[in-house]
Amino acid sequence: MKSISINDQEIAPGENKTVILNSYELHTKSSIKIPVHVIRSKKPGPTILFSAGLHGEETNGIEIIRKLVGREEVQNLKCGTIIAIPVINIVSFLYSTRDLPDGKDLNRCFPGTKNGSLGSRIAYDLMKHIIPLIDFGIDFHTGGAKINNFPQIRCVFDFPENLAIAKKFSAPLIIDSKYRDGTLRKEAAKKNKPILVFEGGESMRFDYLSINEGLSGCLRLMKAYKMLDLDIPNNTVVKIKNDTWIRAGESGLFHMNASNGTYIRKNDLLGVICNPFGEVEHKILSHVDGYIVGINNQPVVNEGDALIHLGMED
Ligand SMILES: [Zn+2]
Repeated sequence: MKSISINDQEIAPGENKTVILNSYELHTKSSIKIPVHVIRSKKPGPTILFSAGLHGEETNGIEIIRKLVGREEVQNLKCGTIIAIPVINIVSFLYSTRDLPDGKDLNRCFPGTKNGSLGSRIAYDLMKHIIPLIDFGIDFHTGGAKINNFPQIRCVFDFPENLAIAKKFSAPLIIDSKYRDGTLRKEAAKKNKPILVFEGGESMRFDYLSINEGLSGCLRLMKAYKMLDLDIPNNTVVKIKNDTWIRAGESGLFHMNASNGTYIRKNDLLGVICNPFGEVEHKILSHVDGYIVGINNQPVVNEGDALIHLGMED
């Protein structure tokens, strides 16, 4: 076992250390630093990345990593290495925004360039200093504007290695999800480093079911590689191969009648949209058999808005 180095900071086997990925100077002359927790056993084993906060308003993942790193078993790994980055996008986290101050989505800036814009530089540093060190990783996200995602792992089913990691993590749902250009997941995959995305809850809101599922998944994954000794039962995992959205048939006040994560059948009543000025009610029926994998929590909706995300089993 050798020391590893992150931007010239050495971490020896058996050492637990917080290092800085890099420092970025803003127009105010304030500098933004990205802390990286590195936890190493003296015994060889896999190196796993747990990262969150690529989007600065997605707090559930940040909390999952905070809880994970604080655990005694994790601080005393039986083998291998954990690299945990609670907040990648520090500057957006400061302002609770998804995007960077220049309007860019950091998760569309990969692989990045050394002399590019802020997002491009952060992406470049992750690709240069972190990705070469890891075997695989989990990147934590939440639903976006008012969408609450039931705890789920997103990966590419065509790659058996992705599915094997997803099964070890054992989130309630595993969803087939193609690579998107500019993402950490796609660029890491090009380097043969599988990164799976965990989605749970919504932005700007703690969702304790998602936080607990995310934390348990990390611990199960580590247990599967004998990095710690814990008894955490697996979920009954549902594999989702195809998905569809139910959109608002009309504008109005949206009430959901079904719970996130539940199995529903075609023609089941999932919710209603009411006219705020009268008694008119528009029923929302499912057009498929499947699982509810995400829900729009916004009470006021416009015609065509995405309301309920449904996933169909593999
Ligand atoms: Zn995100």
